[in-house]
Amino acid sequence: MIHIQNLFKKFNDLEVLKGIDLTVEKGNTAVIIGPSGSGKTTFLRCLNLLELPDKGSITLGDKEIEFNEKKRLSASQITSFRKQTGMVFQNYNLFPHFTALENVMEGQITVLKRSKDEARKKSLQLLEKVGLKDRSDMYPHQLSGGQQQRVGIARAMAMDPNVLLFDEPTSALDPELVGEVLKVMKELSEEGMTMVVVTHEMQFARDVADQVIFMDNGVVVEKGTPDKVFGNTKNPRTLQFLNKVN
Ligand code: ATP
Repeated sequence: MIHIQNLFKKFNDLEVLKGIDLTVEKGNTAVIIGPSGSGKTTFLRCLNLLELPDKGSITLGDKEIEFNEKKRLSASQITSFRKQTGMVFQNYNLFPHFTALENVMEGQITVLKRSKDEARKKSLQLLEKVGLKDRSDMYPHQLSGGQQQRVGIARAMAMDPNVLLFDEPTSALDPELVGEVLKVMKELSEEGMTMVVVTHEMQFARDVADQVIFMDNGVVVEKGTPDKVFGNTKNPRTLQFLNKVN
């Protein structure tokens, strides 16, 4: 479970998040949609402390962090919180000089202090799960974008996170490669992974989300089931956005 209360974030004078509240129950998938610049990526990056919120609180599992502009968090607080999340980035962010297998092993060895054998075994299982066991010795430049992103998902899963965060995971992909990544994400969701996904893929949001969150201008304008947000919204801002993207 992840529970976010009254989260604020600004960059200099630009207020990007203006009091976000959201709860994602264990095993659920929340999909965040909204126009460019509405703060979706910033919100996601706040959830694993790649950006530090100015105010508000995040509870993840049994850990709660309250943010306060005047009180700095210690490095160990940040690390122990971040360990509970796995992040999948728009541009994959794989190490170019590591094979697919080594990319999935790395965090397990350096952060979780697993043995090499244990990390290798777990990585091969995860690469098989994302359909890439036969590509485990290839380097990122030898893989397609869709394959690289699936390695990125395996790498995030390898940390046994309580929640997986996806930041526009298919936006950098050629259209014909989007489906293979969404398929893996759908399987994870069906298996009960807790996920927060920022995406422009509306069909994925309709099919997979337990909860759709429409953000605009740093606030949650509307949240609810896909049926409610896509089928029955009366909110003019949501309607305007959906008319543009559909
Ligand atoms: P998109 O769909 O285009 O990715 P978004 O909804 O994810 O947009 P954000 O990337 O969160 O939006 O950006 C929200 C606002 O915050 C934008 O105006 C952006 O320029 C600004 N912003 C984001 N990161 C920073 C930063 N590190 N420093 C200054 N401004 C930033």
